[in-house]
Amino acid sequence: MAAIRSKDTKPEMIVRRGLWKRGFRYRLNHKRLPGHPDLVLRKYRTCIFVNGCFWHGHKLTESTVQGSTVQGSGTIMEGSECCKIPKTNREFWVAKIRRNKERDKEELRKLAEMGWHCITVWECELKPSKREETLDSIAFTLNHIWLQDHHTKVVQYPAFDEDNMQMPMAAEGEREWKMENGKWKMEN
Ligand SMILES: [Zn+2]
Repeated sequence: MAAIRSKDTKPEMIVRRGLWKRGFRYRLNHKRLPGHPDLVLRKYRTCIFVNGCFWHGHKLTESTVQGSTVQGSGTIMEGSECCKIPKTNREFWVAKIRRNKERDKEELRKLAEMGWHCITVWECELKPSKREETLDSIAFTLNHIWLQDHHTKVVQYPAFDEDNMQMPMAAEGEREWKMENGKWKMEN
């Protein structure tokens, strides 16, 4: 992975600046960890990879082909909106991207075994219209990991739209809202 990811590429800089601005501190291109993660946040036991959609084959699907093709059964890699496989030398690119994907998977597996959380940020999630949302969600994930590690009770208050007043105010003090499977529910 390191060989094909040049240092200080733009998407990586966006993530670095965005997290720094949100108060996170990290180390860069950790050489001793599998895959040389772009950012390593020790306090959060988290490695972050900023992946280019093409090289790392974002959203690619492998479909299984049964018998009828010239080559026989096997899998065919179809391009995606994120990763358009060049028509020229197609086989070469497919093999290359497939290898990259396998290596990525293997590195994530190794890191997980070592007790690291891994976050993969895709280049397409960093385009201007999505950028802030993506960075906020990384920040949220990191805080969540930290809280889990420290067995701290996650204190979250139900968000509600003040104009619509969707939450029954009268229930306050009697029953409580609690988070269940990502949704707010009124406790019985
Ligand atoms: Zn993508």
